[in-house]
Formats: sequence, C-alpha cells, structure tokens
Amino acid sequence: MSKPIFLCDVDGVIADCQGTIHEFAQELLSRDLPPPSTWRSYEFHEGMGFSKYDAEYFYREVLTAFDPAEIRLYPGMYETVDELKELATVVFVTSPCKRHPEWMFARERLLECLDCEVIHTHSKHRVQGDYLLDDKASTIIKGGPWRGLLWDQPWNRNSPCPPPSERVKSWERVIEILKGHEQ
Ligand SMILES: [Mg+2]
Repeated sequence: MSKPIFLCDVDGVIADCQGTIHEFAQELLSRDLPPPSTWRSYEFHEGMGFSKYDAEYFYREVLTAFDPAEIRLYPGMYETVDELKELATVVFVTSPCKRHPEWMFARERLLECLDCEVIHTHSKHRVQGDYLLDDKASTIIKGGPWRGLLWDQPWNRNSPCPPPSERVKSWERVIEILKGHEQ
C-alpha cells in the first residue's frame, strides 16, 4: 500500500512567520502591537490594527528591510515531521512572498534539513495530493484535488471550514487522520 501524499503549508503551520513578523513590526514602529495570539485576520496589518499609513510603511519595509531567514520552525517540528514521514509522503507547499527577492531561497534553506520536496506556488488548488494542511482558510475553502485540513490558528478562527474539510487543532489529530487513510 502506498503512502498518502501529505501537502503541508509552511508559514503559520510549521514555521513561526507571524511571530517573527510581529517582532519586526514592533521594532519598526517602536511600540507594542497586538500579538499573533489575538489576531482575527490572516492579513498582518489587520491583525495588528494598523492605520492605512502604518500598513503602507510596514509592507514597504517588509519588502526591503525584513530578512525572511529570521523565520524559524516552531519547536518540535523536526520530530513531528519525522513522524509524519513514517505515515505519508510529505511535500511542503508554500506561497512565496511576492516581490521579496530572498523569500524562496530562505524557505529552501529553512526546509532543507527536513528532507522533503518543496513546491513554491500561490496556486495550491492545482497541486496534487491526498491532504493539504494550511492555516489560510480561503485556501482550504477554495479547495483542490486534496482533502483540506485547516490548521487552527487565532487568525482563522472566525472562518468556516465546510466538510469534507476539517479544522485540526493538534499534530496528534493530523497523525490520526494519516493513520486512518484508506487507499
Ligand atoms: Mg500559512
């Protein structure tokens, strides 16, 4: 029996993009900003309650001063990915930050140690697989040739997750789903 193909998003699922961006924004604007645990929007500027002026400044600086190599994996991800690889073919599917010249290279370097294939695309609905785990609700709702698993995060908690998609709150649940996979 062949293993299922498990497509896995990176930022907000295995890598702490939001935490790193939050720190960057606090330093940039020299003030405390709402932490990711309180964000109710996928958009950084909405999560942090920026004015239009701050949002424009922030995004301009993200594209120039922010170093994507600062983004690290969440704790325990090496072990978790090893466990997933026992059960599935793990493929990372990640959207490159538009116009940031270093983004894709930083992603390749970050993921290198996990020894899985990496697909950089904004068109996740075109990627073949059995499951897609992602924290962006609109990607899961749009759907594709996979079963959507919405990785529960504060910024997607107000979004629906219509069946057969499922909101998952732990890696234990992901592993349970993979163990129950039927060909
Ligand atoms: Mg993500």
